Amino acid sequence: MKKSSSGLSRREAVTHSGIATAALLGLSGNSAHAYADAGIRRDDVARVITETLFADTHEHLVEEHSRTEWSQPVPLLPCDDWALLFSHYLNSDLIVAGMPPKDYARFTSPTETTDTKWRLLEPHWKHVRHTGYARAVRIAIEHLYDVTELNERTVHQLAERHTALVRPGFYATVLREHAGVETCQVNSLQAPFMESRQPDLLLQDLSIVAFGAFGGSNWNTMTDAQGSKATDLAGWHRIIDHYFEKYGPYAVAVKSQTAYQRRLNFAGVSAESAAPIFAKLLAKEPVTPAERQAFDDHIFWYCVGKATAHNLPVKLHTGYFAGHGSMPLERVSTNPGDAADLLRRAPETTFVLMHIGYPYQEAILSLAKHYPNAVIDLCWTWIINPEASARYLRDHLVTAPSNKILTFGGDYIPVEPIVGHAAIARRGIARTLQGLEADGWLTRAEAVELVEPLMRGTARRLFRVEEKLKRLATAPWRQVVPSVPAVK
Ligand SMILES: [Zn+2]
Repeated sequence: MKKSSSGLSRREAVTHSGIATAALLGLSGNSAHAYADAGIRRDDVARVITETLFADTHEHLVEEHSRTEWSQPVPLLPCDDWALLFSHYLNSDLIVAGMPPKDYARFTSPTETTDTKWRLLEPHWKHVRHTGYARAVRIAIEHLYDVTELNERTVHQLAERHTALVRPGFYATVLREHAGVETCQVNSLQAPFMESRQPDLLLQDLSIVAFGAFGGSNWNTMTDAQGSKATDLAGWHRIIDHYFEKYGPYAVAVKSQTAYQRRLNFAGVSAESAAPIFAKLLAKEPVTPAERQAFDDHIFWYCVGKATAHNLPVKLHTGYFAGHGSMPLERVSTNPGDAADLLRRAPETTFVLMHIGYPYQEAILSLAKHYPNAVIDLCWTWIINPEASARYLRDHLVTAPSNKILTFGGDYIPVEPIVGHAAIARRGIARTLQGLEADGWLTRAEAVELVEPLMRGTARRLFRVEEKLKRLATAPWRQVVPSVPAVK
């Protein structure tokens, strides 16, 4: 970050915050990194972790220009000031702690003053400040804006510096220079596949929730390669085919978060059975919950078949729910068992079970050990429960192959808290490997050797990142985004 926005040069900021300093690491020149690291105990393992960039497997980032050209509240971006950092996921902890939803709405309103926003936040801040959601934000604001303690005075500094940072090129600066992330895999919440202007930084999933029974009214709007809308199930299949043909070569994976709506017990439902249900959906006629589920079952397997033909892993949300006051825990508890069924029925398909199925991670781990086509992803999990995440990683490494785990995805809409989340993940990975070494399970050399595949290599191989980047370099939607001047 530039001196003008933070008031500190990178070197000063690093020294000031006392984290990951070049001196501490014995590094110099270009190899010195300034990523926040949440206090890793220094040794060879820590050094390699601090030097290694994450291949981030899961974010919901909006396109950078949506931030830099923000003019009014839109879905996902209620405001463009510092309160945005608290809007995802910390908002849930705030409301669960007792913040009235109407106060939260004012807090994220674009028209309230910084003083009013602080007054609304302050009574609840002390109750949430130690959770993973809050730690990620606190680390980010310390690292990016040099605000170490949030109070009625420093909140103005935060407001000013937050605004100063949001300009063309800031995504690359925040991700690469401050979070230590080389590429992100984005599951856009705005389009089935986002034609990102920054495809070298923001790789994309192809979302299949738009195609199923919980995809809203897409059936009447989406079109195939000829621009035709669906008039029957065969037409809908053609539209799905079109998306896979158009975007499959560029996408890193297929993504479904349908676990928010239903169990993952997708039955085999034929096109013959699904066609009359789709006809009703198209005509906006009522369908029973069983019919809706059967149609969704059919579309799920249709898309899994397409994904597998395109050599795309299938990422599934499992476990904990974002938000508050809505999680049906009994249904969530069925995720590991249902996933086992999917893994057995589609052995050619690689399923990425996201968020370690928290809080059912022990069962999810047994799937990683048992099924060649199961990969577990710690994305989001480090801030849901940092301790459980570190325990999971430790358990995984002594139980299942080390190439069956992906260790980082921030899962954020705003880019800035990724700095804090990545720091918490680095700390968790360091503590885990250092602990296994201390217990005599790993030698120092073995611990060091695990770092690159855990943070980067496994993800790059599984999602064929190099090949996708090469193809994306000539994607027709690519634009030149000027970068923020390099940090001095
Ligand atoms: Zn997500």
